[in-house]
Amino acid sequence: MHIARKRFGQNFLQDAQFVRACIDAIRPLPTDTLVEIGPGLGALTRPLLTQIPHLHAVEIDRDLIARLQQTYAPSQLTIHAGDALEFDFSLLGAQLRIVGNLPYNISTPLLFHLAQFAPQIRDMHFMLQKEVVDRMAAAPSTSAYGRLSVMLQYRFQILPLFDVPGAAFHPPPKVTSSFVRMLPLHPLPYLAQDEAKFADIVIAAFSMRRKTLRNTLKTYLQDKDFQALGIDAGWRAENLSVADFVNIANYVPVNQ
Ligand code: SAM
Repeated sequence: MHIARKRFGQNFLQDAQFVRACIDAIRPLPTDTLVEIGPGLGALTRPLLTQIPHLHAVEIDRDLIARLQQTYAPSQLTIHAGDALEFDFSLLGAQLRIVGNLPYNISTPLLFHLAQFAPQIRDMHFMLQKEVVDRMAAAPSTSAYGRLSVMLQYRFQILPLFDVPGAAFHPPPKVTSSFVRMLPLHPLPYLAQDEAKFADIVIAAFSMRRKTLRNTLKTYLQDKDFQALGIDAGWRAENLSVADFVNIANYVPVNQ
């Protein structure tokens, strides 16, 4: 008997129908390099290992790691004990397929961490709060559109697949969940020459969502610059597409 730990965001998927729907969406193949984040009690691990000979797993909870070690041979399951937020996924090779019912308390930093490894990733399938998936996939000029949408849509195609009610988990989370597919864009349709600057500009623009770009981006752009870019300085961050943000980052001089 394992008592779910809130600090590790433990809500174990229990509903067989939704487990099946996740596995069907992932479509694991024996030759895939699959990595599961947070295998927990094995709700996804078990059915994955009926279809593939080997799986990598990153898990932080020592009690759960001990259980997994008792259940699966090391030749089947390679457990990387530790924090997925610090894990170097590039160590596992290329064409990675990363899956997981993610700990919701760290979902945003984890998505940002994983985005760094996009060149080594073939696809990702995650269970997340529906509210987070809505923000990931949001279009410009909608209330859900924000920094998360821009930074993830810069690198990934985001495909929400289906919603999952709280009752499918134990203990049930208070929120509805969604299963989402993330496909890295190769090549990137809009390339920021300086990705750190692109990230800084997105942060600055969304730091005060209700303020105009003239205000939030004043350290980067003057009125003449907005004109040259064809962007209305009276707009707000939520009105800019990913391409607009990349154009701004590529326009701003190198030393700024
Ligand atoms: N995959 C299981 C399932 O679907 O029932 C468990 C999902 S539960 C929502 C999240 C899992 O992630 C737990 O096993 C938890 O211990 C693990 N976890 C939490 N924080 C983590 C972290 N920082 N790094 C790696 N694993 C983490």
